[in-house]
Amino acid sequence: MKAVMNQIIWNNKYILSEGKSIFQSVFYNLGILKVGDLVSRQGVFLKSDKILNSSFSPCYSFSLMGVLDAIPKEWRSIIKTNPYCAPSPMDQTCFELIIAGKVIDLANVTSKLVYNEFRSLKQTPATAKAKILNKYPDLATDWKKLYSLAFETTLDTKLREFQYKILNLIIFTNKKLHRFKMVDSPLCAFCNAEEESLEHLLYFCKTSSFFWKELLSWIAVEANIVLNASLLDILFGKFDLEKDFLLVNHILLLGKYFIYKCKLSQVIPSLLVFKAKSKATYKIDLYIAKEKGILLNHYKKWDNFLSWLS
Ligand SMILES: [Zn+2]
Repeated sequence: MKAVMNQIIWNNKYILSEGKSIFQSVFYNLGILKVGDLVSRQGVFLKSDKILNSSFSPCYSFSLMGVLDAIPKEWRSIIKTNPYCAPSPMDQTCFELIIAGKVIDLANVTSKLVYNEFRSLKQTPATAKAKILNKYPDLATDWKKLYSLAFETTLDTKLREFQYKILNLIIFTNKKLHRFKMVDSPLCAFCNAEEESLEHLLYFCKTSSFFWKELLSWIAVEANIVLNASLLDILFGKFDLEKDFLLVNHILLLGKYFIYKCKLSQVIPSLLVFKAKSKATYKIDLYIAKEKGILLNHYKKWDNFLSWLS
């Protein structure tokens, strides 16, 4: 247990995100250095004092979730199943990093230098932002809203992570995988007729657009929520709503994640299955709301759907 808690997070060959070790200067500068720095005294991940005392923007909270995800499963289960033990304080003078094959003593470099080195190696949210703006100039650019939407609408980490990946343009479509020579064809898993870009997969493909049409008419009939959804609404969230903001965005997020999961398992997205998933989601939401004592918010959010759900 002690050994796990004292593992240094950054540049650790066992803590890998997409095959690469990680370094994020923001967290490093805040003194989040060891695995134990992510864990509260109660053994809860991402609730340590160091994290709670630093008020991150949602974008950084997402990043931290990514860091947690990169920690080997076995380590996480050791932490979960053992009594808490605090990581020992860090002697920063002997903290070494390997950058581009060279060992660098951190006592001799500024964090800016290290950060710049890593910027050149790893895509940062800033470059994803620029790419998104370039691709979708019409996108209203309140980034804070874009980044926090998934946090507001759902407590489900899988959905939040999925949205994080969309915002960082790291969803692996066949188009992308083909470019990396990891699949034989760049064509869409559903229609097999056009290149599977993110936009095609989630929106333009006739299979997906049929699914959205069905989904939208379902919520129109069952919940009396009448709306249309553009490509931007699907990718980034629907902001021009006067009511049912949380519910609609939760359903859109569930919908696109559902399409993505269907693609992975090579089945055509069916509204019937999606409805069952929505029911299950509602039940989880209800359970969490009860635990947290926020039932009122829960019922307010799901109000329009309650007759269908019960
Ligand atoms: Zn297609």
